[in-house]
Amino acid sequence: MKIEHRTVQFQAHTRNLFLHLLTQCNLHCLHCYINPEQHGNRILDRDTIAKWLAIFADRDQVNSQRPVQAHPVIRARDAEVQRIASETNVIFLGGEPTLNPALPDAIREARRLGYASITVDTNGFLFHDILNRVSPEELDYFSFSLDGSCPQVNDPIRGGGVFETCTSGIRRAIARGFETSVIFTASRMNIRDLVNMPAILRGLGVRRFFIQVIGIRGNSARKGGASLQLGREEWESIVPDVAGKAAEMGMHVTYPKVFLGPDEPFACAGLVADNHFVFPNGRVYTCPLCEDYPIHSMEIVKDELRRRPPIRECDLYSLQIPEGCVLNRILHPGNIPYDADGRPLCRIACCMLKEEVLPAED
Ligand code: SF4
Ligand code: SF4
Repeated sequence: MKIEHRTVQFQAHTRNLFLHLLTQCNLHCLHCYINPEQHGNRILDRDTIAKWLAIFADRDQVNSQRPVQAHPVIRARDAEVQRIASETNVIFLGGEPTLNPALPDAIREARRLGYASITVDTNGFLFHDILNRVSPEELDYFSFSLDGSCPQVNDPIRGGGVFETCTSGIRRAIARGFETSVIFTASRMNIRDLVNMPAILRGLGVRRFFIQVIGIRGNSARKGGASLQLGREEWESIVPDVAGKAAEMGMHVTYPKVFLGPDEPFACAGLVADNHFVFPNGRVYTCPLCEDYPIHSMEIVKDELRRRPPIRECDLYSLQIPEGCVLNRILHPGNIPYDADGRPLCRIACCMLKEEVLPAED
């Protein structure tokens, strides 16, 4: 099968709303980035979720509070158009979002508001009989987290018995007619097993495969996760190859670019894209690297979106440095290699910049 490679630049008409419905979870994954100290323990109820979805479906509310304005071209051309839900993908996550009994109502409300696509990121436990409480017409994707092709690799990372539960959840979701994807978070603990994932996913019937790189946030930051991070050689010698193999089997594969070559342009999604990471305590970030720190750009107070005063994450985006991503340089300086003269050997791409590999259309 012919395959096609492409770098997905930040696209003018694409917005993403990552809405964390709670921080609670039944698992304790080694690399979990959830941080209740920063994001609270609130479980969003149905009415609150509906109000918050409405905020991000309204161009005026978002643009009037966003300190750094993205997409000036769109704003000028579509100035009269208020509703932006049709350009926005919503991803419900947690914690474990299926633990929130309001999830079916949240999905239906997002559909009613006209969001472009609706995804639920789940650990596979599928609580509250979620497969029977929403329909494939209402939800675009269940996205399952699986960090290994077998229990021996997955379960030391995600917990005993999780491989069986998660793969059973995938099978049941597919049998009910849902589209599914799988997210694999790559680290030193499982990178050698990545090569086995495409065959497993094909056997399960999964059509989309996201390979993610371990982030040094939440649990992994607290538990010394920097030692689990992959170097450039490891990443580039394994991930693109496996992505190609999965695409040859008919899957649509996405993975972060991570390292930029000398001629590749750098762009910060915080400046040129519209991504909002919303937490149950009302914090709204525009860069996922910042989520362990109270430097969020905006916050929701009494169900209204408000811009925060400096210093915020967005006050740092425009700093231009030879290392590329400025927040990576500040928060994780250890993952940038330098030469003997102190010059960075490569630049770190925005963590939102993705490569896609997919079966080519004839
Ligand atoms: S399933 Fe997700 S939220 Fe739960 S512990 Fe694992 S990484 Fe964290
Ligand atoms: S990861 Fe870096 S480049 Fe991307 S939005 Fe954050 S600060 Fe900008």
